[in-house]
Amino acid sequence: MSLLVVGSVAFDSVKTPFGEADEVLGGSATYFATSASYFTDVRMVAVVGEDFPETHLQFLKERGINADGVERQPGRTFRWRGEYGFHLNEAKTLETQLNVFETFHPKIPKSYADSPFVFLANIDPELQLDVLRQVEGPKLVACDTMNYWIEGKREALLETLKVVDILMINDGEARELASEFNLVKVAKKILALGPKILVIKRGEYGALMFNGKTMFAAPAFPLESIFDPTGAGDSFAGGFMGYLAKTGEVNDVTIRQAVIYGSAMASFNVEAFSLDRIRSLKADDITSRYKEFKALTFFESH
Ligand code: AMP
Repeated sequence: MSLLVVGSVAFDSVKTPFGEADEVLGGSATYFATSASYFTDVRMVAVVGEDFPETHLQFLKERGINADGVERQPGRTFRWRGEYGFHLNEAKTLETQLNVFETFHPKIPKSYADSPFVFLANIDPELQLDVLRQVEGPKLVACDTMNYWIEGKREALLETLKVVDILMINDGEARELASEFNLVKVAKKILALGPKILVIKRGEYGALMFNGKTMFAAPAFPLESIFDPTGAGDSFAGGFMGYLAKTGEVNDVTIRQAVIYGSAMASFNVEAFSLDRIRSLKADDITSRYKEFKALTFFESH
C-alpha cells in the first residue's frame, strides 16, 4: 500500500569522531523515503531550492520513489550542520539554514490524497495538521517531532498528537514532552495525549514500543564500524512504516516485526555517511540482518 512522507530534504554537513562530510544529501524525508522504498511504494512531499542537483532527484526516482510532490522554489535548499562526540546518540546542531524550508507549505498532490499510510516527519506541527487535512481518511498516521517544537509549539503539537496513531521520537524528546524521566511513566503520559502506539528510539540502546497493553524492546545491532548516525531515526521510521504499508496489516505481530525492520534499516544507515549505505541495499541484505536480529535476541525457555 502507498506510503506518503512529508518532511525535509537537506544538504547536511556532518562531523563525527570517524570523519566528516560536507553538503551531502540528507533531510528527514530523504532518509525516510529511501529506507521505506525497499518495502513499498513511497510518495514524497518536500521542498528544494534552485541549487538542488537533478542527480539527487534522479536517485530518488531510481529507487522507485514518487517525487512529484517535491517542489522546487526560488532560493537555496535547507542546510543543516551538526557534530557528534563519541557519545553518538545526540547530534549537536551547529547551524540550521532554513532557506526555502522557511516558507514551506506542504501541498499534497491530488494523486497522493488517497495514501493509506502517512508519515509526518519532523516539521512544524501546524504543517503536520495541515497535511492531515489534505489526505482522505488514512489507515495509519505516524509522526516524529523534536525539542524545538516541543518547546516552541507545544499547543499545536498536542493537537497533532490527538489525531496521530503512532508517535516515534527519541528518548530525550520523549522525556521532555512528558516532563518525566522514567520511560515507562513517559509512555503512559504520552499515550494519554492521543497516540495508540509510542516508539522511543534510543540510539545505541535500541528501541522501545509501548501500546498501553504491552512493551516490546529491540536492541540496536552491535556493529563493528559506525560512521555517521545522522538519519538513523528517519531510516528506522522508513523501515517501520514501509514494512507496515507492505503488509497492509497493523496488529501486535506486524508492529513488532516493523520495529525489527526499522532497527535493521537504522543499522545499515549508520555504517556510512549520508545515504551511502542505504542507497543500494539488496533485498537479501535486509532479510539477513532481520534474521541476525532474531538470532541476537533468541533464548531457550525452560
Ligand atoms: P535524524 O534521523 O533525527 O538523525 O534526522 C537527521 C536529518 O534531519 C538530517 O538529515 C537533517 O537534514 C534533518 N534536520 C535537522 N534539523 C532539522 C529541522 N529543524 N527540520 C527538519 N529537518 C531537520
